Amino acid sequence: MPCCPGSAATFAQRKDADVRPGDRLEAVIFDVDGTLVDSERDGHRVAFNRTFEEAGLPDHWDLATYGKLLRITGGNRRMAHWFERNGMPPAQARELGERLHPRKTEIMRELIAEGAVRPRPGVTALIDALIARGVAVHVATTGTRAWVDPLLERSFGDRFDTVVTGTEVTDLKPSPAAYLEVLRLTGASPSHTVAVEDSSNGVRAAVAAGLTCIASYNSYTRDDDLEGAKLIVSSFDNPALVGWFRQRMPQMVSGA
Ligand SMILES: [Mg+2]
Repeated sequence: MPCCPGSAATFAQRKDADVRPGDRLEAVIFDVDGTLVDSERDGHRVAFNRTFEEAGLPDHWDLATYGKLLRITGGNRRMAHWFERNGMPPAQARELGERLHPRKTEIMRELIAEGAVRPRPGVTALIDALIARGVAVHVATTGTRAWVDPLLERSFGDRFDTVVTGTEVTDLKPSPAAYLEVLRLTGASPSHTVAVEDSSNGVRAAVAAGLTCIASYNSYTRDDDLEGAKLIVSSFDNPALVGWFRQRMPQMVSGA
């Protein structure tokens, strides 16, 4: 169920959100998978395959297969979709996806502890520049808190103020629910807040929440429809992205 009945529809009408140069940027909300970290290819995909192996299942997702499955958000739903597509009755596919998901999360935690999932180049520098200028940084993800928290702690320390995950907000992207929950918890103004995403589902969620969205895509999402984003780049090191944020950051506080 959506967290805030009615609010999604209200926000969905505000598709022209645009934080402009000179506007005082108040907060930036980051997606996790594919945005902060290259987690899909070397993290989640590997965790799913190990889960299948342990369960004695013949299923295996190679890079290309997994790329197509990324359109299904939520690990249990992604597995259920796959099983059903391969002939399993829907109820059984859903049950198996739900049963395997906790173990997949455990394996993902192990991979994170091993350092298999790393920040995307340039993203930490951007976050630090935002914090140095008094811009709050938050997270809105459909990932599970059990692996999101250790990942953020290992890779980003205590940089993020508010973290909303798919554990609390079960209405997954492209629903705006996770973004709306961050706005509700922080009181940040949507017209002074920017979302950073990597995928079509993520951009749609941010835009539906009334936020200006910047897209930094990766090898899996380079062909996604990212049309709703104000700026689309392939990397956080991109000068256009660095300049875009610089034009909207508050003036440096004296001594900062
Ligand atoms: Mg993503």
